[in-house]
Amino acid sequence: MLPEEGCARRRRVVPRTGCRGDPPLQVLLSTYQAVSLTLTTNDQGVRLCTLASGSSGNCVYINCRGTELLVDAGISLRAIEHGLQALGTSAANLSAVLITHEHIDHVRGLLPLVRKYNIPFYIDRLCACALPEDSHANAYEPPEPLFIEVGRGFGVGAAQATPFRTPHDSAANVGYIIECGGARVGVATDVGSITGQVANALLGCGTVVLESNYDRDMLLTGRYPPYLKARIMSGAGHLSNDDASVFLCRLVSSGTRQAVLYHLSHENNHPILALETAQYTLGRQGIRSRIAFSAYGPPAQCVGQESLFAQEADITLYVAPRSALGDLLVCE
Ligand SMILES: [Zn+2]
Ligand SMILES: [Zn+2]
Repeated sequence: MLPEEGCARRRRVVPRTGCRGDPPLQVLLSTYQAVSLTLTTNDQGVRLCTLASGSSGNCVYINCRGTELLVDAGISLRAIEHGLQALGTSAANLSAVLITHEHIDHVRGLLPLVRKYNIPFYIDRLCACALPEDSHANAYEPPEPLFIEVGRGFGVGAAQATPFRTPHDSAANVGYIIECGGARVGVATDVGSITGQVANALLGCGTVVLESNYDRDMLLTGRYPPYLKARIMSGAGHLSNDDASVFLCRLVSSGTRQAVLYHLSHENNHPILALETAQYTLGRQGIRSRIAFSAYGPPAQCVGQESLFAQEADITLYVAPRSALGDLLVCE
């Protein structure tokens, strides 16, 4: 158990064994089976759940009044199928997969998935050309990709998706705004910096899935070689806890009420550090935040500070687990 005062201070390096921690990838499937979530696919609202997060794979499930989407398919086909099954649905119900960029942690299961279930997938033309070679390419052809254009929205069933440019060292990189009814959801991962385009897109979203990749001190003192540290910290690399937290303040002012901290580095971050950095930064601006920590065990075990769970809050913070289902969010 972590010390009670732990989360009141910043820059504390939290041992990886704290709380329940990230389950190793090999227990992924059994973890999924252990989760019992119910999802009514014909529900009138918008539901969101992360299937995986981080360098070993990224995948977000969104259900818009029965229209089911994935943003990225960075885990194996089998893991996607099991994750969706645990949510009470199936890959056969997916209407589309929206791809942010071609890095393997975002497309690992893409081609096997779209081929098996004949699912349309949306991707930047440059990313499509740079997709990793598909080892099963000769089985039979996957559906042709549907090319996106930054700023140009497209409809998928009940959802309207609009890609926006994000700075990252891929062939091209986008985030997505997904709108359905009155709900507006933003997904932004692998974001080297919060540019004007990123901010314009995400401000006003009720729910945001936002990269919070690394703790600066952990990265600087960690074992990565200097070139890799420089790459991660560059404006075309990844978003730090600090930068994500500063932007969260702007998001709350614009109406964001839920944020999922996403794509945390296993090497250079920890869920508690990401959360406490966000809460500290928000608190300094007088913004009350509440932590939903169910994916990591009972909150009291992890944080032990009453005020973190205040009933009255301006924003609820979540962390996407590395290789298990996240919380099921109701988006407004
Ligand atoms: Zn990437
Ligand atoms: Zn990535």
